[in-house]
Amino acid sequence: MPVPLFDPDTPLRPLRAELRSAVHRVLDDGRFILGPEVEAFERDWAAYLGAGHAIGVANGTEALTIALRALGVGPGDEVVVPSFTFWASAEAIPPTGARPVFCDVDPDTYVVTPDTVKAALTERTKAVIAVHLFGNVAPVAEIEALGVPVLEDAAQAAGSTGPGGRPGALGTIATFSFYPSKNLGAFGDGGAVTTRDAALAERVRTLRFHGSKDKVDYVDVGYNSRLDELQAAILRVQLPNLDRWAAARAAAGDAYEEALAGLATLPVATPGSRPAWHLYVIRHERADELQQALAERGIGSRPYYRTPVHAQAPMRQWAPAAGALPATDELARTHLAIPMSAALGAEQVAEVAAAIRDAGLG
Ligand SMILES: *Cc1c(COP(=O)(O)O)cnc(C)c1O
Repeated sequence: MPVPLFDPDTPLRPLRAELRSAVHRVLDDGRFILGPEVEAFERDWAAYLGAGHAIGVANGTEALTIALRALGVGPGDEVVVPSFTFWASAEAIPPTGARPVFCDVDPDTYVVTPDTVKAALTERTKAVIAVHLFGNVAPVAEIEALGVPVLEDAAQAAGSTGPGGRPGALGTIATFSFYPSKNLGAFGDGGAVTTRDAALAERVRTLRFHGSKDKVDYVDVGYNSRLDELQAAILRVQLPNLDRWAAARAAAGDAYEEALAGLATLPVATPGSRPAWHLYVIRHERADELQQALAERGIGSRPYYRTPVHAQAPMRQWAPAAGALPATDELARTHLAIPMSAALGAEQVAEVAAAIRDAGLG
């Protein structure tokens, strides 16, 4: 029985009729940018997270740049960011004029810690980007206790819960992506910035709209970066299902823990968190051979960040000395994502485990 790496279609199938009528509602209404759907989704998303304010933007990458700008990040500043993450976490920094300072992650949870962040702080540090990688929840409160504002990159963590609440409501400001394959995915690009701080929220609102309130007077050089009405309407249909999908992802993680014990090194949830695993990423000394063996059985797997961000050509000018990020280098070499989705059942988990066992790679 083949098992795909992910399965975005099965969970959406029962929602087809509702999705179609949401799209028709927008067509009938005829407003496509910053109308009632975006307003309603922003309200619902802020309430779901317990974040106070949500502002829809065009995608998760611009959400990061806009959130940094709202925090006042600019030329001469430094922003601490992990190197073991999706490229965009760091890519969003240089457009503000600031420089990225790469930090390490914890080798078991894959997320930043107060210690890995502390090693990268200087008097120029203006913010820390804490990535809730693969859905695991970074210790945001402990990092903010170091005295620096945290921007949560929660693109992979919709539906996760942490000890202090949900990702998106743990730090000074947070960002989401609604790229179709994320835990909450639109049918195109989309993103959001969330914050409890009303003044920050207002700055984000202005920045996403050309630095203006009315396109008559301009208070800043901003962005044209908006979530559109169709995507917001589609997200509103999906949101009431997010907790159920998150529970299914977490349960699939539990099943893997039982089935894969002794076969691979598994991700460890941070204390008090319940990750809605976006990707289920194991570590294996012979990861590439394992990927090959799984492919022969029709089981999807792949590495995501074989070259860590700091080692990619455009970031090398800001890279720390070779060997300075040991956990990042180790994870980059050994990680492998295996099937995960809200539709992944016990039978499929058993199938993946059997294939890993039969691969006999130790
Ligand atoms: C997907 C993702 C982003 C970027 O989101 P887009 O909507 O694709 O621009 C940023 N950070 C992380 C960790 C992501 O996974």
